[in-house]
Amino acid sequence: MRARIWGCRGSLATPGQGTLHTGGNTSCVEVRTETGAVVVLDAGTGIRPLGGTLAGVRELDLLLTHLHLDHIEGLAFFAPLHDTQATVRIWGPAQEDGTLAERVATWLSPPFFPLPFQQFEARIEIHEAPAAEWQIGGARVRCARTRHPGPTLAYRLDDGGRSSRASTEPRRSRLRPARTPCCTMRSTRATSTPRASAGATRASTNSHASSARPPHGAR
Ligand SMILES: [Zn+2]
Repeated sequence: MRARIWGCRGSLATPGQGTLHTGGNTSCVEVRTETGAVVVLDAGTGIRPLGGTLAGVRELDLLLTHLHLDHIEGLAFFAPLHDTQATVRIWGPAQEDGTLAERVATWLSPPFFPLPFQQFEARIEIHEAPAAEWQIGGARVRCARTRHPGPTLAYRLDDGGRSSRASTEPRRSRLRPARTPCCTMRSTRATSTPRASAGATRASTNSHASSARPPHGAR
């Protein structure tokens, strides 16, 4: 299993000289399982450059930790959603008001985006993440609620003897992911020097715990 961070900012994308090294996009992590399956964690602005690398991928899974803007603001610009040959399965937390599918479809519709949801060309499936573990591309996927405003999940993927975890607020999660406060102004500052990572054992969507260098396209 390999993880690559395409966006590690909270709250707002932060382009500029101050983020040239660590990248300025909001939350998005790409995970490739041992079978080659593509799993994407969150859909911040980092998902746009990721989508540009996925031509020819016919199916993938997108795990949303929650629906705060910095975790979904790139979704409409994700190229696979506009690919007639692609199937995109979106997973996320059950909502307190309405369904996850209604929330996502609303976000992918006017007035938030010019195209109606029905005109996205991919086959889009939207699922509330189950309480029981499930499988994606041979990886074992588990999730747990975390302490964060609104319905929020942390995810853990186990595959080939390695695990990746993504969370926005880890301290109350039984999955014990990295220390990653989210949606705070603190997380918009570059405070670490991430290193390149192949076969990363931990994937975070926040700059404070980044273990992999953002790809060139995400800077
Ligand atoms: Zn948040």
